[in-house]
Amino acid sequence: MIELLFLLLPIAAGYGWIMGRNSAKSQAHIINRQITSQYSKGLKFLLDREEDQGLEHLINLLEVSADSVEHYLTLATMFRRRGELDRAIKIHELLLKQPSLDAATLENIVIELAEDYIMAGLFDSAEHHLLKLLSHGNCRAIELLFGIYQQTSDWQKGVSLYESYPKLFIKSQQKIAVANFYCELALEKQNTKIIKKSLNLDQLVVRPLFELGKSAHNRGDYVKAISYWRDLLIQSPFYAPIFIYELEQCYQQLNLLSDFEKLIVAEVNRGGVMIKIRYCKFLIESEQTEEAILFLSQSLQKHPNIRGFSYLLELVASKNSDINDLISKLNQLVQSYIATKSEFQCKHCGFTSHTLYWSCPSCKHWESIVPSRGLDGF
Ligand SMILES: [Zn+2]
Repeated sequence: MIELLFLLLPIAAGYGWIMGRNSAKSQAHIINRQITSQYSKGLKFLLDREEDQGLEHLINLLEVSADSVEHYLTLATMFRRRGELDRAIKIHELLLKQPSLDAATLENIVIELAEDYIMAGLFDSAEHHLLKLLSHGNCRAIELLFGIYQQTSDWQKGVSLYESYPKLFIKSQQKIAVANFYCELALEKQNTKIIKKSLNLDQLVVRPLFELGKSAHNRGDYVKAISYWRDLLIQSPFYAPIFIYELEQCYQQLNLLSDFEKLIVAEVNRGGVMIKIRYCKFLIESEQTEEAILFLSQSLQKHPNIRGFSYLLELVASKNSDINDLISKLNQLVQSYIATKSEFQCKHCGFTSHTLYWSCPSCKHWESIVPSRGLDGF
């Protein structure tokens, strides 16, 4: 209850302003009496726990003092943070009825009201209000609507929203979200062609190329799978762990392993340990095991990595039959350690997982979960 006294602030401000106008002293006195009377009435309702009527009375004072909207908005935000959504909604709805407010303020109040509705799970009400702001080019309305469509898995509405207002999608995270909406919609409708629309986005995204490659691979179209995954490997080499084995398989099916080797050689210094290990395998296949051991040792000195270390142990064991058993046992310990480590981590909130989620289950960001990096990563 005590927080409602916060509403005294605009009254005090309005009173001070009015009283400062010496030329209109008598008029100010009359207005002040009106304010005090209305305020006392509102406060009495609140003290009698008739909060709706109390708020309504206090909101009515806005007609006298429109400058005080900010204070009411702050109060509503405080209610929302405390989970008292019905009270926040009440304030925002009453503010919207004030005829004296300008268009920008009203727009801001609609956004705040929509946030109340979203938090209360009243998505239809929020959507109804937010859609009305789109013709004004309100970017925050776009963000909130996209959030609603993500929560309700309404990929079609999200995609339609983007196609209607592409210029309102400014932030890179929004464009990444759009690309993933196309991917989700394509999976839902079992129509891969939908994903191709996301390739025109002016933004580096991972999932469309991955899904297109995966779809081509699944139907045995290895040429197309190579085309998509090769581009993805060059664009985002640290994502290699999620598709490099299948990519190699595609080259194998087409008897083009030499082309795969060229690709790996070209990317070996940009990619993570998975690409370096694959490079070593090519060296070994051409009987250059010593070179592979030297390359990997030097690489691990620069970028220590437990998975690379495990593979180095394998190579050393294969070259030293007398200590093979000992090193193999040591490597088993290292492998046991690796098995306890998460393969994926969210770069936004730190969420870790053994599964790749395109939308982080914790912070809901799209494509923020990436193959782990560093000592335990790839
Ligand atoms: Zn996250």
